[in-house]
Amino acid sequence: MSDTLVFGTPPLPAGRPAVGDPCLLLGPVQLAPGGPADPLEPAPAEDLRTHLDRLGPRPTGSPALMTALDEAHLTGQGGAHVPVTAKWRRALTGRGPLTVVANGAESEPVAAKDGTLLRQRPHLVLDGLMIAAEALGAERAVVWLHGDDHGARQALLAALRERPWVLGHPAVEILDGPVHYLAGEASAIARAVHGGPALPTVRRHPQPGAPRTLVHNVETLARVALLARGQAPTGTRVLTVLGEGRAVVEVDARTTFADVLVDLGWTEAPQAVLLGGYGGMWARWARVAHLAVDESALAAEGLTLGAGVIAPLGAWACGVHQTAGLLGYLASMSARQCGPCVFGLPSLAEGMTALAAGRSGDGVARLLADAAIVEGRGACHHPDGATRLVASAVSTFADDVAAHAAGRPCGAGDIAWPGVDS
Ligand code: SF4
Repeated sequence: MSDTLVFGTPPLPAGRPAVGDPCLLLGPVQLAPGGPADPLEPAPAEDLRTHLDRLGPRPTGSPALMTALDEAHLTGQGGAHVPVTAKWRRALTGRGPLTVVANGAESEPVAAKDGTLLRQRPHLVLDGLMIAAEALGAERAVVWLHGDDHGARQALLAALRERPWVLGHPAVEILDGPVHYLAGEASAIARAVHGGPALPTVRRHPQPGAPRTLVHNVETLARVALLARGQAPTGTRVLTVLGEGRAVVEVDARTTFADVLVDLGWTEAPQAVLLGGYGGMWARWARVAHLAVDESALAAEGLTLGAGVIAPLGAWACGVHQTAGLLGYLASMSARQCGPCVFGLPSLAEGMTALAAGRSGDGVARLLADAAIVEGRGACHHPDGATRLVASAVSTFADDVAAHAAGRPCGAGDIAWPGVDS
């Protein structure tokens, strides 16, 4: 590969995923760069008959399933990768009525794997939701979506119409959240499903009789549905890869980053990749090209793909300038409840913008000091995504950062990030 990234509309991978069963997606899709996960070309959706032919009837959820989930080391696929049974055990403390939520509100503007899964295999997600609700004795089962995700809602409604005789208890509710970056945050969802605002809140120890809420990403629940049927743990990774548009693909978790881009039609290497989305981290391409997309392998390198987003940055683009734009987006998405977030994120965005323009003076040290002040001080983890982005940009683009700090901005080309003003 040379050092210029080709942003074409790449062909979908022909050979991959060489994953065998059980897969989660029915196939890869191409999408527009931003917005809900509506495919550019019609994509298959699994009806109930095909779902049952493939997997058989849904088993009833029971607490005994926790053993299989522990043995599979199943972690949440929404970004944080918390062990599923840790959340189940926490949910089982307390006596208040329990709501289990399938979170399909992907808030990272690039992410589209959950929307794709909901469109392709709604029955698998609904099975996982019902199994979790039954296993934990929940009184409510909710699917939580962004209010503009009409495609996912239609897929779920069609699936629910097909399966009145397998509904079980509780009945599934579909709730629409606001179209906002923080609407998919677990504590925001927990407030909203009980009639409050969809805003993050400080986690407190729940009162003994207070309502309990367990929020799982929809891919996590799809994996629960497969494990509950006695299937081997799914050895795949579902990814959203940004290019001129977005591709959602499912690959064997041993697949390398280089394989992912080559299979999507890239012929030349990027300088870096943004891992996990806008609240994620930069990594030099040379550092990740030959790493597998497996989360535990990445964790050993101090990296994470979060909710499975890969955004390559071509050699012609300026990582410092791009990071300034992303920080501006993150600052604009604050729920404006906590001082470190309200004041700290705009300050980080302004500092990175000044650095990008070559007028920051000693700005790098100040930027890192500001990030350290903000780190961990919000009620939710939103500011931590911004500080992680700053720290990773300073190390990944070290030469460019030094040149900008010395008053020599590069004036390199721009990228149209979904939702970001350039
Ligand atoms: S940290 Fe920011 S986004 Fe999170 S609750 Fe506080 S103000 Fe809202």
